[in-house]
Amino acid sequence: MSFEHFSLDARVLRGVKAMGYTEPTPIQEQAIPVVMKDRDVLGIAQTGTGKTAAFALPILQRLIAGRPQRHVRALILAPTRELAEQIHEVFVELGKQTRVRSLTIYGGVSKGPQIAALRRGAEIVVACPGRLLDLMGEGNVNLSQVEVLVLDEADRMCDMGFLPDVRRILKAVPQQRQTLFFSATMPSEIRQLADQMLNNPLTVQIGMIAPAKSVSHALYPVSRNLKKDLLLAMLGQTATGRVLVFTRTKHRARNLARDLAKQGYHAVALQGNMSQPQRQRALDGFRSGKVDILVATDIASRGIDVSDITHVINFDMPDTVDAYTHRIGRTGRVDATGEARTFMEQDDEPLVRQIEKLLGKRIERRELRDFDYTARAAAAKSNSRSHQGARRGQGRRH
Ligand code: AMP
Repeated sequence: MSFEHFSLDARVLRGVKAMGYTEPTPIQEQAIPVVMKDRDVLGIAQTGTGKTAAFALPILQRLIAGRPQRHVRALILAPTRELAEQIHEVFVELGKQTRVRSLTIYGGVSKGPQIAALRRGAEIVVACPGRLLDLMGEGNVNLSQVEVLVLDEADRMCDMGFLPDVRRILKAVPQQRQTLFFSATMPSEIRQLADQMLNNPLTVQIGMIAPAKSVSHALYPVSRNLKKDLLLAMLGQTATGRVLVFTRTKHRARNLARDLAKQGYHAVALQGNMSQPQRQRALDGFRSGKVDILVATDIASRGIDVSDITHVINFDMPDTVDAYTHRIGRTGRVDATGEARTFMEQDDEPLVRQIEKLLGKRIERRELRDFDYTARAAAAKSNSRSHQGARRGQGRRH
């Protein structure tokens, strides 16, 4: 099937071509015709399926008809700034040949430019709920003429505590509208919200709610104090392209990126303590290939849409099965293949069993070739003893 089948405007099709898409992905194939007929859609789809274009193309098609308007006609709600930026970029790229304008609204940056952009007028607004509510409260944004509402990564919105905000925003958009609702998983709270928001929707479920099939999974049992050595040894002996490393804490992301950089790797961190421009710089560097290794925490990593990630390395186990799916969704996107390697501590066993249940198979346990776990463990132990000694020594001196 080709994109020509959808009877999209030639200007929109040029955008598709510019993005290098030749064939629609399954979610696009199913959702685009339905969205173009004004129906509501419930899309149960993980990241990497092409869901952004599945809603962006019909929205552009709708907005392109008639003269450009200066009010908000399509509102897309996303849980994180990174995801909001990425959705916005897809609109910009796909809509290059159109005169439809899109803008982003999210916290962590000053409001001024967002308010100025709203005043200049845009038909598409991609927003995170908190800042949007702020601007609504100040009378800077008017949603009374919204025709299409998109909720992206609804399950993540819920995890991040945004559901009350979403409900408040719902009150400000017209009842009479088209709603497109996307979530990778459907826990009961999300099901309720979907029922409340959608009107006779078509449900499009793409794949199992499980990590992409094109990803191979492996576990590396290791004790905590050896993880850094293991990572360095692994990077040293593996031919990698772009590597995404996940840590549990912001500190660890920062320190690990710094340690990798000291070893000569082009590595940077992406974590919640960084300012928005710093985060954007890190992502841009990773995307452009200046940075080979991005060390990220879960929150900061949402919606990272960088193609050709060859390896996702879970330096720390994620907290939930869902988080595992999302992390792994960063590799093996669309048709590419990827590897997911997870460092597993003893305490991680219960979660590993849940992940294996989801995947429907046991994940292979591996040892890194030529990595002497026993000798390293002994060295790490004596190292930490001499550190403690040094610290005690210092303590006496001061
Ligand atoms: P998404 O699930 O929307 O985050 O998209 C995942 C990735 O797939 C992005 O890098 C998109 O640019 C890419 N993509 C979306 N649609 C297509 C398509 N029809 N053909 C190839 N790549 C696509």
